[in-house]
Amino acid sequence: MIVVVLLYSWNIFCPLEYVIPVKNATESSYNKDSFWYYPWGSSITHKGVDIFSKKGESVLSSSHSIVLSTGYGKKSGNFILTLDPSLKLQYYAHLESINTSKWKIHSKGEKIGSVGNTGNANGKPFHLHFSIVTCLPHFWLMDTSPHGYLKSFYLNPIQKFTE
Ligand SMILES: [Zn+2]
Repeated sequence: MIVVVLLYSWNIFCPLEYVIPVKNATESSYNKDSFWYYPWGSSITHKGVDIFSKKGESVLSSSHSIVLSTGYGKKSGNFILTLDPSLKLQYYAHLESINTSKWKIHSKGEKIGSVGNTGNANGKPFHLHFSIVTCLPHFWLMDTSPHGYLKSFYLNPIQKFTE
């Protein structure tokens, strides 16, 4: 029990700062209402933020992180999955290139890939899809919106950005 309390305290209160994970991106590079936008095709709701930029712009590690996985998915295109010290996952999708590999450790702001439109973003404007997913469910954030129970896992990345 005490371990769970300690893990949750760390997960919630770890003083971690996230940068917008695209070089030269600002608040105007994304739509502030895009998190949990509904309807969103086969995903039902949009569980992250789309950060628009030019093709090939650097994708940056949003925080200190370790790479858990990289690869290609039909929907995600080229993707990178990382874990940060507060036990949250970061998911970067539709990349043009992946410039890291499994188990690599990155500091905040380091280049890990480049912006593209791979996967189901093919033919759409170049952007990075970015999600933050907590490993310890935040049950108190669930609501009655479509897929609202999944808000205990998918956190709003826009609220995490500091500039
Ligand atoms: Zn997206």
